[in-house]
Amino acid sequence: MDTDVVVVGAGPTGLMLAGELAQAGMRTLLLERRPEPSETAKAGGLAGQILQLLHYKGELDRFREASTGPEPAPRFPFGGVHLDFTRLADVPMRAMPLPQPRLEAVLAERAIERGADVRRGHALAGLHQDQDAVTAEVRGPDGPYAVPARFLVGCDGGRSRVRELAGIPFPGTSFPEIERLASVTVPDSVTVLEDGGLDVPGVGRIPFGYTATERGVFACSGLGGTMSVYTAEVEATEYDDDVPMSVPELSASVSRVLGIELPLGDPLRMTRFGYSAKQADTYRLGRVLLAGDAAHLFPAGGVAVNAGMLDAANLAWKLAGSVHGWAPPGLLDTYSEERRAAAERTLLHTRAQVALRRGHGPGGDALRALFLELTADEQPLRRLGALMAGTDVGSPMSEAHPLVGTFATDRALHVAHQDPRFAGLLREGRPVLLDLADRADLRELARQWGDRVDVVSASIDERPGDALLIRPDGRIAWAAAVDAPGETALPALREALTTWFGVPSI
Ligand SMILES: Cc1cc2nc3c(=O)[nH]c(=O)nc-3n(C[C@H](O)[C@H](O)[C@H](O)COP(=O)(O)OP(=O)(O)OC[C@H]3O[C@@H](n4cnc5c(N)ncnc54)[C@H](O)[C@@H]3O)c2cc1C
Repeated sequence: MDTDVVVVGAGPTGLMLAGELAQAGMRTLLLERRPEPSETAKAGGLAGQILQLLHYKGELDRFREASTGPEPAPRFPFGGVHLDFTRLADVPMRAMPLPQPRLEAVLAERAIERGADVRRGHALAGLHQDQDAVTAEVRGPDGPYAVPARFLVGCDGGRSRVRELAGIPFPGTSFPEIERLASVTVPDSVTVLEDGGLDVPGVGRIPFGYTATERGVFACSGLGGTMSVYTAEVEATEYDDDVPMSVPELSASVSRVLGIELPLGDPLRMTRFGYSAKQADTYRLGRVLLAGDAAHLFPAGGVAVNAGMLDAANLAWKLAGSVHGWAPPGLLDTYSEERRAAAERTLLHTRAQVALRRGHGPGGDALRALFLELTADEQPLRRLGALMAGTDVGSPMSEAHPLVGTFATDRALHVAHQDPRFAGLLREGRPVLLDLADRADLRELARQWGDRVDVVSASIDERPGDALLIRPDGRIAWAAAVDAPGETALPALREALTTWFGVPSI
């Protein structure tokens, strides 16, 4: 067998996964049915926990170099209102402008550099698996062929062929609603008001922000030298994501929702999305796994790429452990458990956003006003930020220490945003025992797993514990309390290392 893992689909999830797997020494084959990369405008950038993980991987600069603008102030739409995280000292949700085609180009380059075999124009047509292998049946430019591998991961989007071939149910709901979001140049006839609203001849003033009407929701902004226009309306049409929205389509939508003819300039960015809230019953069936949109669809924007790339980070090291043979029993199943739980949290807030946004009339307005009032308080705002960032992933993995099972965030470590001491902490894609209190006893124990676990020492002003065992996906697998005695810390660390990374090599 020449291939360890076949990855199906070169979207952000599949490309991220291929890069992670190749780094971990997996012979990785990435199949993409399109002959050329897609140029369709979809996600506008990266947001949430993935940015923190890329910081730990020492890769943030590479993505920043491809970014199309400065990192915006942390303010995000949430169900028809805007959440302003700028008030928090430790901002839980951040974003980097990086349009999806550019993001995919960076991820593809990274995967190829690390040795992944990326084949475009090769579609998965069938698959079958037995105890020892899974075989991908591929239709390539030179005809059909078969590839046996240890595992196959479907990162092939919402209409996943892999999911269908594996027979994994994908229950949930679709909303008969289409949202359109566009950025156009400001036409000469339109005056931008100081607050970002618009003055349109024959119509009058259109306020900045959201306007709810009987037919849907409209929003506009003239800030930043361009005109942003948004509509949401009930419409049962199934659009193809690869057919971009046009200016006449947007114009017709504005006139249906707002009842006016709004002059629109030249298109800069045109997007349209329909919404589903769905999650696969399992992300693993034997040797076949699912990740990204193939595993979950969320009914609000801005969070799906983050979720897919975090799936990839969670899965890659577990697959590597399974192929290399050190994975403890059940490790691979924790992928489905953990990422389904994370997607449940994302479904919770994205479904809530739909309800908040779609509430019409005085009741809906009151709900949004009350919601905004509640988020004036720090704690609910912080919680919502962690939910949106995908940092809040459900119930803790252990009662032993409050950090176990959480992501290693700046807040968890009590350090400033992107503290340079931790840039590249997870550079090797391996777990790290982070010793924060010069604990030679813990370091010595972890070195017994030296072929797969790194040991790093650092000192910070206000340490959350004496040491943290951080998995390659940035989640904390174990933590020693401050001044934890060796008699309790050493057996607990041994157990955590064995649970996650198998029996020691020496
Ligand atoms: C208009 C729009 C705007 C969006 N905005 C945002 C946003 O702002 N933020 C955000 O996070 N998300 C956004 N999204 C969602 C985001 O684009 C998706 O969540 C993301 O693309 C999912 O990535 P993925 O890699 O899981 O799947 P996809 O990107 O769908 O990639 C799947 C790949 O698999 C390939 N494929 C399918 N079948 C096969 C097969 N049989 N064989 C081989 N290859 C196959 C496809 O060609 C495709 O390249 C937006 C989506 C749309 C449509």
